[in-house]
Amino acid sequence: MRMEPTAATEAREKDAETSGNGAAPGTDTFEVRRPADGSMIETLEVASPEQVADTVARVRSNQPAWEALGVAGRRRWLGRWRDWLLDNRERIADIVQDETGKVRGDSGLESIYLEMAVNFWGEHGEDYLADETPTPGLLPTKVRRLRVRYRPYPVVGIISPWNFPLILSAGDAIPALMAGAAVVIKPSEFTPLELMEVIRGWKEEVGGPDVFDVVNGMGETGGALVDEVDYMHFTGSDRTGRIVMKRAADTLTPVSLELGGKDPAIVLADADMERAVNATTYGGFVNTGQVCMSIERVYVEEPIYDEFVRRLTDNVKELRQGTDGRSYGAEQGAMTSPAQIDIVSDHVEDAREKGAKILTGGRRKEGDGDWYEPTVVADADHSMKVMVDETFGPVVGVMKVKDSDEAIRMANDTRYGLSASVFSGDTDRAERVAEQLEVGACNINDALVNYFHLEVPMGGWKDSGIGWRHGPTGIRKYCRTESIVTPRLPTGKNEPLWYPYTPRRRKTLNRLYRLLNARGLRNRLGLGKRSR
Ligand code: NAD
Repeated sequence: MRMEPTAATEAREKDAETSGNGAAPGTDTFEVRRPADGSMIETLEVASPEQVADTVARVRSNQPAWEALGVAGRRRWLGRWRDWLLDNRERIADIVQDETGKVRGDSGLESIYLEMAVNFWGEHGEDYLADETPTPGLLPTKVRRLRVRYRPYPVVGIISPWNFPLILSAGDAIPALMAGAAVVIKPSEFTPLELMEVIRGWKEEVGGPDVFDVVNGMGETGGALVDEVDYMHFTGSDRTGRIVMKRAADTLTPVSLELGGKDPAIVLADADMERAVNATTYGGFVNTGQVCMSIERVYVEEPIYDEFVRRLTDNVKELRQGTDGRSYGAEQGAMTSPAQIDIVSDHVEDAREKGAKILTGGRRKEGDGDWYEPTVVADADHSMKVMVDETFGPVVGVMKVKDSDEAIRMANDTRYGLSASVFSGDTDRAERVAEQLEVGACNINDALVNYFHLEVPMGGWKDSGIGWRHGPTGIRKYCRTESIVTPRLPTGKNEPLWYPYTPRRRKTLNRLYRLLNARGLRNRLGLGKRSR
């Protein structure tokens, strides 16, 4: 049941209906507020399409010099910025907490990821972007030397959501910068301040080259950025992802889309119960459930279902909700976006009406700000929104299944395909289950952890996205390839393939290519049927 909203939350909801944090479309300013109590932090100017174009043109003019530094030179600059991030961790976490409502333990993750990413792409960038020298396959082509180069798109645009305002903006900018691109980011209108601060740090305190900037605003600003850049990396809802992809089609701008999820966990009867329960509690409720890879639904084999539900509920009841400053005294923060809390309430009420058991939580908290109690929905099924639509809040639905086959079938019964978890005492068995899931990543006896292995691609199947971050592709995607084909030997004045065409030369060529392309001696010599 929904509590009566306060004046502050009413205002925030109204804003959300218009265009984000306190601005109707077409206005010049927007407000950034504290989700914890609804109070205002700051009013910011919306960047107009002309300002977006100017920003992109400016960084574009500086990009060739940035590219010319090579990976080693760029790594030095990004390394200085990493040191600045390390020295300013607490201050940055304060800003994160203020504008997102996260607890301290979750706020600190943002800088840590950026530091890790600078080191990872610094250490691997050179290898991933090194020229490739494939060996020509066909005998006549062996006279040429082949080389493939990775050359950056001059300007990469990034549009990011509000749930991890640094990881999903600056975090995705790091490989692009390491590749030699300039980057302009449009952060979520709900949470622009931490990104503005780390870019200020890059410019003013590190003195980094002018190839990294931010433009603020809502959808119109995001659309203008799509128009101006050479590559667009978008993270957000699949609804907006589709709009971005359509807009990018006008300028033939390539996109990668990191979209929503409805991630399942499968708990097999031989799983370590305590680990499965702890992992589900963390994976379902970290960042107040506002993670694209949150465990949102759990399929538990029949023999252990009752015990799993009881222990999960006990665990979730222990979670402390509140504003914890720098104390690390809570696990559950406020919900960052006012619109999202309505979706969460709707999913829980829908499950309640359809016969699920709400074992703990299930209510919006009274008072200022946007707070929803951590909630366990047991005996859920796929007629309920909580098991099929993205909830993106502190709610986990649990369903009993007969066996692993049913669990796999239910886990795949979704339009999303971001990631999953499988719990079993037999990791080989768990991997066999994982191989049948339609997801971009699967964590065995763990939750969310693939995101912190930058060695492996992270991305979604189905409506969860197009393209990948992390792994070699996570930096190469910010590049265009250039293939250079060079003669190995001194060249003559003409080539057999060139003009003039004469019957004798063409017939000789045809015979030569039959010799090379056919299989089986008779067939190569044109004496019989093509062998199978
Ligand atoms: P959203 O789609 O509402 O907004 C994302 C960004 O797009 C914001 O910066 C917004 O201002 C901008 N935008 C809005 N309209 C636009 C338009 N017409 N043109 C260009 N840009 C526009 O998403 P959100 O509510 O901020 O974030 C929550 C969603 O993000 C969830 O669905 C979540 O699963 C998803 N997400 C995905 C990943 C991932 O890596 N796959 C990570 C985090 C969040």
